[in-house]
Amino acid sequence: MTDIIQLLPDHVANQIAAGEVVQRPASVVKELVENAIDAGSANIQVVIKDAGKTLIQVVDDGKGMSLTDARMCFERHATSKIKTAEDLFSLQTKGFRGEALASIAAISHVELKTKQEDEEVGTQIKVEGSKVANQDVCVCPKGTSVSVKNLFYNIPARRNFLKSDAVETRHIIDEFQRVALAHPQITFSLFHNGGELFQLPETNHRQRITNIFGGKTNEKLVPVTEETEIVEISGFVGKPEFAKKSRGEQFFFVNNRFIKSPYLNHAVVAAFEGLLKDKSYPSYFLFLKVDPKSIDINIHPTKTEIKFDDEHALYAILRSAIKHSLGQFNVAPVLDFDRDSNLDTPYDYKNRSAEVPQVEVDRNFNPFQEENARTHKSKSSSNSLSSNFKRERGESWESLYAGLQSEDSPKPDSDFREIEFESEEVTGNLFQSPEDSQEKSTFQLHKKYIVSTLKSGILVIDQHRAHTRILYEEMLKNITVSAAVSQQLLFPLNLQFNTHEIEILKQLQDSLEQTGFVFSEVKGNSVEIVGIPTLISESEVEILLEQLIADFENDVPDNGFSQTDLLAKSLAKGMAVKSGTLLNNTEQQHIVNRLFACKEPGLSPSNRSVFVTLTVDELDKKFM
Ligand code: ADP
Ligand code: MG
Repeated sequence: MTDIIQLLPDHVANQIAAGEVVQRPASVVKELVENAIDAGSANIQVVIKDAGKTLIQVVDDGKGMSLTDARMCFERHATSKIKTAEDLFSLQTKGFRGEALASIAAISHVELKTKQEDEEVGTQIKVEGSKVANQDVCVCPKGTSVSVKNLFYNIPARRNFLKSDAVETRHIIDEFQRVALAHPQITFSLFHNGGELFQLPETNHRQRITNIFGGKTNEKLVPVTEETEIVEISGFVGKPEFAKKSRGEQFFFVNNRFIKSPYLNHAVVAAFEGLLKDKSYPSYFLFLKVDPKSIDINIHPTKTEIKFDDEHALYAILRSAIKHSLGQFNVAPVLDFDRDSNLDTPYDYKNRSAEVPQVEVDRNFNPFQEENARTHKSKSSSNSLSSNFKRERGESWESLYAGLQSEDSPKPDSDFREIEFESEEVTGNLFQSPEDSQEKSTFQLHKKYIVSTLKSGILVIDQHRAHTRILYEEMLKNITVSAAVSQQLLFPLNLQFNTHEIEILKQLQDSLEQTGFVFSEVKGNSVEIVGIPTLISESEVEILLEQLIADFENDVPDNGFSQTDLLAKSLAKGMAVKSGTLLNNTEQQHIVNRLFACKEPGLSPSNRSVFVTLTVDELDKKFM
C-alpha cells in the first residue's frame, strides 16, 4: 500500500484560506484598515483604484514593523496579537488569526513599506502569490503602507465573479464607514480613482456620524446611554419621523467592532413600537461595550456575527434604554398613530405657533382664461423642466400624464397594491364622494401651493412634492409591473460620461428602459439614446441622468428593491413640476386628483409632508 496523504504546500493552503478571508476588494480594505487600527495609528488613508480591482493601498502612521516582523507577517498564523488560547478570551484587537496578510499575499501583488519610530530606515518587501519577490531597505515615514495590486490575478474565476465597479465601490465604502464610525478618534480618508470620497477629521461619535451621513443627520439623532453590569451602551438612534424605507443606516458595534445581529436589531425595533410607519426602518448607531470574556467572536470567519453569553438580558437592556431615550427626548408622546391622522396637521407642523397666513393673489390669474393666452409667455425660458412642463401643456396637457392611469380608474390596480407600501385610505375622508371632488375648486398660491377646499376646511398642497409623489409611484409601477411608453427621438442623443458614471448607468439600464428610455449604445465613455420617457424633453435628459448618477453615488443601494426605489425617487424629483411654475386650473385639479389616487399621498418620496390641512375648527379658534 502506498501512502497518499500529504500536506498541502503553503501557497495552496493560503489560497484556500484566502477564499474565506477575501471575498472581494472590500474585504482587503477591512483587513488592512483593521491592522492599521491595531497598530495604534492616528491617521489612516485608504487609496483605491478601479473599485479596488487594480489597487488598494492603506497608509497608516502606527507603530510599524521590524525587518523580521515585516517578513513574518505574510506567514500563515503569524500574529502579534495573541500568544495563548487564553488570550482569545480577552481580545482587545481587531485581528488575532494571523491570516489576513498571508491570504491577501497569496492572491495578489503586495508591496509593504514599514518603519518603526526609532529606526533610521524602513523595510520594503514585495510579495507575489505568496512568494517574496524583492526585499530592500527604504526611506519612509513611521508607520506602514500596504499596497495590494491586481487582486485575484491568479484566480480568474474569482476575478470574473466581481461585480461592477459601482457595486464593489459601494462595498468598500460600507466597510470603510463601519470602521470609521467605530473609531472617531482616528483621522480617516478614502480616495477613489484620484477623487476624495471621505475626509474625516478626528472627532467624537456624533460628529463622525454627521460627517459620514451628511450635515442634516445631527438634528435627527437621539442619544442613548445606559450602564449596567453586563453592558455599557452608548450611541444614537434616529428620530422615528426620519425612519428610512431601507435599512441603510443601522449599525451595531460591540467593543468597537461592527457586528450584525438580527436579534438585537429586533430589540431596537421593539423599542420603536408604535412610532414607526409600516416598512420603515429606524436609523441607529449603537456602541456596546461588554467583557470580552462574554462574547465569542470566533463563530464567523469574517467576524460580523458574534455570540453573546447573555443575549436575553442584552435584548431587554437595549430595548428599555432606547425606549427611555425616545421618551426623554420627547419623541414618543408626540406621535400617536392610533388616532385618525387623516385630518391631523402633519407632525412637522404640530406645536408651532400659528403664523398669519400671507395670501398673495396672482392678479393675472384667471381660471377661465384660454389655454394659449399663457403658453406664450412660458416659452421664454425654454431650458428648464418647468418651462417644458408648460410647453407640453400648451400642446396638450394630457401628455403630462401620458402613461399615467386614466381618470376613470383612480383606484390603483391590484398588482401595484401588492408590491407597494401600506395604503392609507386618506381618499375616503378627504373626498367624500367622486361628485364632490369634481366640484372642488382650486387655486394656486405663490406659484407653489395648490389650495383646495375640503368638507371640513382647506387643503394646501405643495405642488412640487405632490407631483413628485405621483411620478414616483408611477415610476415604481413602470419599473416593476408594466413598462412605460417612450417617445422616439428624431436624431439619437449622444451624451458623455466618465467610466464610473457609465458603470452606474449600465447598472440602471434595465430599469431606465422600463421608464421609457431607449439606449442604443452604452459604451466607453458615451451613451447613445434613441428614446426617452414621454414626460421629459430632450434638453432635460442630460441633467436628469446626471442627477440620477449623483444620487446613486451618494447613496448606492445594495439590493434590487432599494435600487428601484432610488431610481424612481431621483427621476420623479427631476421630472416633477417645480415651485414657481404657474399651473392652470385643469393642471391643479389633475394634480390633486392624481395625488389622492396615490398609495401614500401625504408624504413625498423623501418623506416630507405633501399637504397641510386647516380645519374649520382650527379656523374658528383663530377667530376667537
Ligand atoms: P492579525 O491581524 O490577525 O494578527 P494579519 O495577517 O492581519 O493578522 O497581520 C499579521 C501581523 O502583522 C499582525 O499581527 C501585526 O503584528 C503585523 N501587522 C500587520 N499590519 C500591520 C500594520 N499596519 N502595522 C503594524 N503591524 C502590522
Ligand atoms: Mg489583521
